[in-house]
Amino acid sequence: MSKRRATSAGCPDCVDGLDHCHSTLVEHADGTWSCTDDDCDLGPASHGSSSRCQDLAGRCGCAEERVRRSNPRAA
Ligand SMILES: [Zn+2]
Ligand SMILES: [Zn+2]
Ligand SMILES: [Zn+2]
Repeated sequence: MSKRRATSAGCPDCVDGLDHCHSTLVEHADGTWSCTDDDCDLGPASHGSSSRCQDLAGRCGCAEERVRRSNPRAA
């Protein structure tokens, strides 16, 4: 028997067999992004859900650095 990746019932991308990620995409304050799954190298379009990194407690410090510069639009 071959092992298959678990599929989510109700996920249209799983049904279609598309390459995609069920983990959460994290958007950083500087416009970059990463995935909560360290092994994931898929782009934003392949993710069904996303969060801002400042909403994930203790996950990332980039937003705090930006606040210290007071006015992000000044540059
Ligand atoms: Zn899926
Ligand atoms: Zn961040
Ligand atoms: Zn991912």
